Amino acid sequence: MPLDEYRRKRDFTKTPEPSGDRPPARRRRKGDPFFCVQKHLASHLHYDLRLEHDGVLLSWAVPKGPSIDARDRRLAMQTEDHPLDYGMFEGVIPEGYGAGIVMLWDYGTWTPEVADVAAALTKGDLKFRLDGYKLKGSWALVRTRGYGGASKPSWLLIKHRDEWSGPLDITEFAPLSVKNPDADFADIVGAEAPEVWTRNPPAKTGETGTLFQRILADVMKAKQAGPDTPAAPAKRR
Ligand code: MN
Repeated sequence: MPLDEYRRKRDFTKTPEPSGDRPPARRRRKGDPFFCVQKHLASHLHYDLRLEHDGVLLSWAVPKGPSIDARDRRLAMQTEDHPLDYGMFEGVIPEGYGAGIVMLWDYGTWTPEVADVAAALTKGDLKFRLDGYKLKGSWALVRTRGYGGASKPSWLLIKHRDEWSGPLDITEFAPLSVKNPDADFADIVGAEAPEVWTRNPPAKTGETGTLFQRILADVMKAKQAGPDTPAAPAKRR
């Protein structure tokens, strides 16, 4: 079963993530398949690229996030397939696998630029177009040697040169949610900052630990100020 690994890693009594039990048929849309990128602040900040294929979301964790600069090659570690339901998920994973905050950073549809997606994946060279809010145009995922392994092969995510490429840092330029317009991580945590995080945040040290501390401080400040105050008054845009 394609979702076995996804389910084995999670305790659905403890995580708000979808279990994927809903039959994919109910999610069936007409037209091009779905894609999304979820910005995931866990033990490390990364961006999860997901492409709908054969009833699941093929998934890659991109540590530095996608780049629309055609000169960049972004490491993309393939991870377990996710259920289609996961595609619109945004929220807090309080503990366990992937504990942290998930922001729906981009979504839309994708179109293969190859005749046979399964063959392209086996070959390790998938060319495709994205039509999201932030990411558009032609892209490639190319499997690499080195790093990774059989269960977690590493790929490179590359933007092809076209009218949607350019020397702009898209993760800095457009850092916020596309599901809840303009929501940042603190807004997503909202009033429900899991108490467990004050003792045991998903990351304690380094840049990620500092980021968690700042987000939790923003949430606490907003909580004290009252419910109508935005969680993070000084958003970076
Ligand atoms: Mn992730």
